[in-house]
Amino acid sequence: MNHLKNYKKLITVLILVSTTPFLFLFSKVNFSLFFSNQSTFWNSFVLVFANVAGFIGAVLLFWQMILGSRFVTSKLTDDTVGMNLLHRWLGTYGTIFILIHPLLEAYNYTVSWWWLFTFNISNELEEHVTYGRIALLLFLLIWVTSAILRSKMKYRPWLYIHYLAYPLMGFVFIHALDLGSYLAEYLYLKVIWFSMITLFVWVVINRLAIFAGFGSVKYQLIDKKMVGENIVLLTLQPLRKKLSSTIGQHFYIKLKRLGVAHPFTIMEYDGVTGHLTFGIRMTGKFTKQLKDLPVGHLFYLEGPYGVFTREAQNNDPKVIIAGGIGITPFVQLVKKFGDNTVFFYCNRSLEDAVSRDELIRAVGKNYYDVINQHNRELSANIINGKMSAKHIIQVVGEQNVANRNYFICGSAKFVKSVEKILQSIGVAKSKIYYEELGF
Ligand SMILES: Cc1cc2nc3c(=O)[nH]c(=O)nc-3n(C[C@H](O)[C@H](O)[C@H](O)COP(=O)(O)OP(=O)(O)OC[C@H]3O[C@@H](n4cnc5c(N)ncnc54)[C@H](O)[C@@H]3O)c2cc1C
Repeated sequence: MNHLKNYKKLITVLILVSTTPFLFLFSKVNFSLFFSNQSTFWNSFVLVFANVAGFIGAVLLFWQMILGSRFVTSKLTDDTVGMNLLHRWLGTYGTIFILIHPLLEAYNYTVSWWWLFTFNISNELEEHVTYGRIALLLFLLIWVTSAILRSKMKYRPWLYIHYLAYPLMGFVFIHALDLGSYLAEYLYLKVIWFSMITLFVWVVINRLAIFAGFGSVKYQLIDKKMVGENIVLLTLQPLRKKLSSTIGQHFYIKLKRLGVAHPFTIMEYDGVTGHLTFGIRMTGKFTKQLKDLPVGHLFYLEGPYGVFTREAQNNDPKVIIAGGIGITPFVQLVKKFGDNTVFFYCNRSLEDAVSRDELIRAVGKNYYDVINQHNRELSANIINGKMSAKHIIQVVGEQNVANRNYFICGSAKFVKSVEKILQSIGVAKSKIYYEELGF
């Protein structure tokens, strides 16, 4: 398993090393003027501040992009949830700095806000500023679609807009180099800037290589089963190389060598034959074609990634809450570590429950179905309705609720709602582990 124990410290150091040198630019401000000539002081301060903000914003954006690539992060850690949180954190703070830069520049030049969007290339200076304007426009497009419109947009248009982060970064590099008297003046800043450009080019080349199928391993479909109307179970066998994995990890899957890969959690893994079984809910363009594939069809796999359920791989008392296809990381887990486990499996109807009999065998009387639609079957272990605080307290016991570790998997919406319920009954954040199957 790939897990650099101190990966968070390493990333913090890298971010600090690449951002703090830009703070030394404040040495260009003549602070003694603060008392004698306030307006000159503030003008020079705002000028430097605008540049420092631009540089720091660009560096944070750069790290957000680099650490958004699984090719890079898999070298540091398997903790994809932790990396996603960092990705969002860098995006939030990067945005603040990025936006300060053009606003203060417009203020410095005493021009209207429209100047920021006037794509003027009439002279060399304006041409170089225009690279920054294009970068700003691309940035705003990505930011608005990610932070505001994401839940209202389909995944693919959002993804294609998100890819604009690559040309955006290119424009940022050129903009700062063209206008950057500071980069020309201070060798150490130039070294940071060119190191970033080199790393950026290396990541782009690697992403293109992954897109073209380099590094993926061929598997063949050997079995296919439907569960209910929307879920298909696929078993694949390796053609030559066998990829090994641990419980709860996921692979990226493609049907053609060239193209975008989709993540799916391993439901079952046979260490001897290398057979992998995936439980897949048919939601969109990629997943809907899976049920019609003939046995023998080729798959391209890349991975494994992730560490979800690592803390559950023991017989300590735990509570598992799975929503729909969020069952996949738990099937192998409870077969091996099902003792002392309370299991809630939330579905629309019992027909949608994947591997239900196996789960009941593994967990016994502590297995509960939480069924959204009214059903006629009467049993103490079938709860009608939605997951609620009352159900958790009743089953886990009020005295135990705060001591248990909780493992949640399902759609982002499901995970957030369960997390909220757990926190409302006093479960600490540190006791909640989750994986969102989408975002
Ligand atoms: C770590 C992880 C593990 C997953 N495990 C499973 C699993 O075991 N079983 C299962 O049915 N589903 C799983 N998913 C969800 C699965 O990846 C998506 O349902 C699938 O990619 C949808 O593609 P689509 O074209 O059919 O649907 P779309 O309608 O195009 O997408 C539906 C949603 O799936 C997600 N998605 C789509 N494409 C990608 C992509 N290339 N990379 C990342 N997310 C994408 C987005 O959230 C999107 O909104 C997992 C997702 C993640 C992130």
